[in-house]
Amino acid sequence: MLQYFMPTRVIMGEDSIKKNPSVFSEMGKKALIVTGKSSAKKNGSLDDVIEVLSKNGQSWSIYDKVMSNPTVECVYEGASHARAEEVDYVIGIGGGSPMDAAKAIAMLACQDITEDQLFSGNYGKEVLPMIFVPTTAGTGSEVTSASVLTHHKQKTKIGISSPVLFPDVAFLDAKYMDDLPRDVTVYTVIDALSHSVEGMLSVRANPLTDALASVSIRMIASCFEALKKFDLSRKDRENLLYASTLAGMVISSTGTVAVHAMGYSLTYFKNMDHGRANGVLLAEFLRFIEEHLPDKVEQILSYMGMKNVDEFKDLLDELLGLKEEITLDEINMYTEITMPKHNIKNTIVEPKKEDIFNIYKSSLC
Ligand code: NAP
Ligand code: ZN
Repeated sequence: MLQYFMPTRVIMGEDSIKKNPSVFSEMGKKALIVTGKSSAKKNGSLDDVIEVLSKNGQSWSIYDKVMSNPTVECVYEGASHARAEEVDYVIGIGGGSPMDAAKAIAMLACQDITEDQLFSGNYGKEVLPMIFVPTTAGTGSEVTSASVLTHHKQKTKIGISSPVLFPDVAFLDAKYMDDLPRDVTVYTVIDALSHSVEGMLSVRANPLTDALASVSIRMIASCFEALKKFDLSRKDRENLLYASTLAGMVISSTGTVAVHAMGYSLTYFKNMDHGRANGVLLAEFLRFIEEHLPDKVEQILSYMGMKNVDEFKDLLDELLGLKEEITLDEINMYTEITMPKHNIKNTIVEPKKEDIFNIYKSSLC
């Protein structure tokens, strides 16, 4: 079914948290604040939230143990913390990892779901209300209904997805990204770019998601030169943040396609950051699509002001630097893991096993 649905209220601009204290008081008395280990404490986002809660006379408890690529174990631990503290709502602050963990925690705090049921997609409607504050410009998790978790038993990352997982409110304030390091900035921007490009190459793409994707790709491309020099103004940071939220809105309806399916193995086995994993595969994936749908790829490249896939690959190579080594045996294993993933069937041209193998090979060998 072709549709566009995204129910999250998005509030944007500098100091938007401090200017909107009632958004927090309306959610309940006590919050669980979910963050990663340290960045939220350093970039001002946690301070702003705590200032508002204190002024509102609200209480809170902090769960700050979310690691990058959060695990199933982590979200169950966070949910026990939420239950023990009897919180009314969840505030997720950070990159995609704390935001994704916060979604699963908000649901597991209300529903008894076993680990085996967690990836079934069959959940009740009970979930704690959620306020999200993205501090990277990449995942768009603040406006999606997906929570991507590391599943050690299946040796991969899997998304859980349900309309109940859409956050209620997202605050977009680029000031929290002033000191985002170069590599995290580049990888997360490429993740956002990948979301918009993949959204356009999804079987669920439609005129509304294509419109959002085209603006998002153009906004990101307007920052390519600044990204290469890593000389980003606050305005650039803001453009990248809004572009990444737009890209999140795209995948909230289209889902991601083969690039994300393939990238999960690179993250799981090679410890590659999520956005980097997508970035090393994206150009060769476009080359595969180009063989079948050249006009579509030409259109995407034109949004970036580029003439061909080689030009795009050169840009990604410059941004990503030296690539990891990978053997043909590893590629065979990743191909087996990737093929059953639902994002493969979601691709506008469904890749066969040999296509997936070849995209890995031409990207990394
Ligand atoms: P991340 O894992 O959330 O964060 C990466 C690193 O950046 C961490 O070390 C973090 O530190 C640091 N950091 C975050 N914000 C910072 C800031 N403002 N200043 C300085 N450092 C900062 O990375 P991410 O790329 O944003 O998220 C990746 C995850 O999102 C993956 O698990 C991926 O699968 C998932 N994802 C989800 C969706 C979705 O729709 N739900 C879509 C795409 C990707 P701390 O740990 O100290 O915070
Ligand atoms: Zn992604």
